[in-house]
Amino acid sequence: MKESLAMQNLPPYLFARIEKKISEAKEQGIDIINLGIGDPDIPTPRHIIDRMAQSIYDPANHQYPSSVGLLEYRQAVAEWYKRRFDVDLDPKSEVVSLLGSKEGIAHISFAYLDQGDISLVPDPGYPVYNIGTLLAGGKSHFMPLKEENAYLPILEDIPAEIARAAKLMFINYPNNPIGVVADLPFFEKVVEFARTYDILVCHDAPYTEMAFDGLKPLSFLQARGAKEVGIEFHSMSKTYNMTGWRIGCAVGNAYAVEVLGRFKSNVDSGVFQAIQYAAIEAMRGPQDCIDNANAIYTERRSIALAGLERMGWKVKPPQASFYFWAPVPKGYNSASFAELILEKAGVIITPGNGYGEYGEGYFRIALTVGKERMQEAFDRMYAAIGRVDF
Ligand SMILES: *Cc1c(COP(=O)(O)O)cnc(C)c1O
Repeated sequence: MKESLAMQNLPPYLFARIEKKISEAKEQGIDIINLGIGDPDIPTPRHIIDRMAQSIYDPANHQYPSSVGLLEYRQAVAEWYKRRFDVDLDPKSEVVSLLGSKEGIAHISFAYLDQGDISLVPDPGYPVYNIGTLLAGGKSHFMPLKEENAYLPILEDIPAEIARAAKLMFINYPNNPIGVVADLPFFEKVVEFARTYDILVCHDAPYTEMAFDGLKPLSFLQARGAKEVGIEFHSMSKTYNMTGWRIGCAVGNAYAVEVLGRFKSNVDSGVFQAIQYAAIEAMRGPQDCIDNANAIYTERRSIALAGLERMGWKVKPPQASFYFWAPVPKGYNSASFAELILEKAGVIITPGNGYGEYGEGYFRIALTVGKERMQEAFDRMYAAIGRVDF
């Protein structure tokens, strides 16, 4: 009764070692500041909670929901896309609800890949692109994201035989873990590439609303022809501080939306309708919660930038998302530096190699603790390591 080969072959859990250290430190009563988790600490806005509270009493919401989502939910998504991106979506055929976007990102591989089929996956990247591919029996071809290329994959570097064999391409802007955005010419190149090689583009876009300095990140679907080749995953999680509620959507190419919806109708039964009503409220209600959250992240970003500069880093602050991506000092790798910071400062940072081979030599900081704790984290780090060399 052994687990499947796909399970056995999953890459080792890179955070295991650091998690052991965290629990040891906690047992010793050490006060840990966690800059590791990308989970908003700001509560869900009150009007969204109120809508949930009302909806939960309605018996109509106690039954199985439709697996693709309430039409009203899909309409609200379409309206939101029109308002925010000027993208037209048919709520009936081009929108499907998800139990959080992670669910759809993992399942798209099951809906599209046969044994040995290839996904093109960014490295560093959110681990689910590769893991979903592996669990579905596929193989990942990694596309390095390098600083000298503005952390965009170089499509010309993908060998033609790999591109011909690939069925899916995952991209993610604003990017986790790097915090950069993509421009329209890049998205248009991706559309061309996907057309040439008959690839479904899966753009993971949970951070389009979390941006700094007034920047408005783009939807992939704003690129001409994008809907012919791709879908976009979106989520209430980060935009409305709703990570615990589990609701998102996939939008775009009608065939892909139908395939994913059909797959899901066989494995889950949709999102609790009261949560769908809360999400409708989120999308249609007042949007000032987004500006408020961004103002909070902007303040924390300044603290992180000043803290890093004081220790000798020359880093570009993130343009969007709520992550700082920075190189480790000379003499360390991602894991040893994260361990040092945990042991000497009681601060958790995420080792970059957890996001892939090209993340080695970097670490990630999440701006998801309050500004006093943030400041304390950097004061402790400065006290522990002082100024560092690169
Ligand atoms: C947080 C996150 C998600 C998942 O969000 P959910 O909608 O909560 O499942 C997807 N992709 C990236 C890159 C993320 O950081």
